[in-house]
Amino acid sequence: MHAPDILVIGGGIAGLSAAAVLSKHARVIVLEAEEQVGYHSSGRSATMLHYALGDRLVRALTLASRPFFDDPPANFSDVPIGRRMPVLVHARDDELEQLDALQAELSQFASLERLDAAGVHQLCPLLRENANHGIADRNGIRLDPHALLQGNLRELRARGGELHTGQRVVTTDRESGVWIVTTGAGGRYSAPILVNAAGSWADELAKSAGVRPLGLEPKRRTIITFDAPPGTELDGLPFAKTVGDELYFAPESGRLFASPMDEVPSEPCDAQPDELEVALAAFRMEERTTVKVERIHSRWAGLRTFTPDHHPAAGFAEEADGFFWLAGQGGFGLQTSPAMAAIVESLIAGSDWRIADVTAAALAPGRFFAQQP
Ligand SMILES: Cc1cc2nc3c(=O)[nH]c(=O)nc-3n(C[C@H](O)[C@H](O)[C@H](O)COP(=O)(O)OP(=O)(O)OC[C@H]3O[C@@H](n4cnc5c(N)ncnc54)[C@H](O)[C@@H]3O)c2cc1C
Repeated sequence: MHAPDILVIGGGIAGLSAAAVLSKHARVIVLEAEEQVGYHSSGRSATMLHYALGDRLVRALTLASRPFFDDPPANFSDVPIGRRMPVLVHARDDELEQLDALQAELSQFASLERLDAAGVHQLCPLLRENANHGIADRNGIRLDPHALLQGNLRELRARGGELHTGQRVVTTDRESGVWIVTTGAGGRYSAPILVNAAGSWADELAKSAGVRPLGLEPKRRTIITFDAPPGTELDGLPFAKTVGDELYFAPESGRLFASPMDEVPSEPCDAQPDELEVALAAFRMEERTTVKVERIHSRWAGLRTFTPDHHPAAGFAEEADGFFWLAGQGGFGLQTSPAMAAIVESLIAGSDWRIADVTAAALAPGRFFAQQP
């Protein structure tokens, strides 16, 4: 029986970033069901850090995460964990009001440039001529999720922590003040604290432990890659997003990628792209840009898992000693991971709270049950 101080369930970005900081204070083991880390949501994202995602609280978590990405700890330095990429939010005339409102909101977090039609097309020549308005943040970051996951893993291991892959947790019981966990591969573990970072499966894991689920909703999102028109200067292109949630695209390994920003409810699963959303991505790309999507090079889908209020949940379950929730990172789990890890460190290890404009109460899992008898 392995008996660390803290067991973290889930080897995605949430689990690994939390484990890395917790290993400063305690013996930590991470259990991951798959043979590799980041197999699910963390390895399938659009990998962008930008402020058009989520709402005020998500933006505050993103802002608080920036110093980490700009100056990562030593164990992250092998490979850059991100590179600068401008973010362009563009709008047609009929979307102008929406763009103005977004600019007012985002300018509290990022330094934005307002662009007219010429400025929009200079930054992104692929857009159709009706993209008349834009806001640009030249300071966006295209993250490298692999480097981020591996950096966290190196931090964990450097402090004596362990990752056990191929260990799908199947039973979770509280006995004599500790959680006893068994895995499908025959592993047995016990720890006083269990961190539930099981991504889309976090509610399932809670139920198996006799803990009330939060009502998490996994939603599928699709990405396609395809060739850019010959002669396109891919290096200078931004991450370009419609002001409404219709389409984003960006350069990707010598090609372009695009998402129709679909949010299709799903069970927790190994998400696969659906033909309808693949076709929608190509359709919206051709509707908003001058690019012809002749041949789709690759496609994938992943789950973005939301709590009922679309804010992440971090904190101990009120009804179950030592059961810590770290779930509901939605579509912003990579870019907020350093701040969320710092929050986990405060709530479990008692370190100072360092995240401005975010309170523990705003993230507490108990908030979903406060109104219920
Ligand atoms: C298409 C798409 C685009 C996105 N774009 C962005 C973006 O631009 N910027 C951004 O910041 N975020 C983005 N996201 C969101 C981001 O990817 C997620 O918020 C983040 O990856 C969630 O991390 P996680 O660790 O909670 O989940 P996961 O990476 O899914 O990790 C959870 C892990 O738990 C494991 N697990 C589950 N149950 C068990 C069990 N019983 N036993 C052991 N292990 C278990 C799973 O195998 C899995 O590896 C995007 C997501 C998608 C799908």
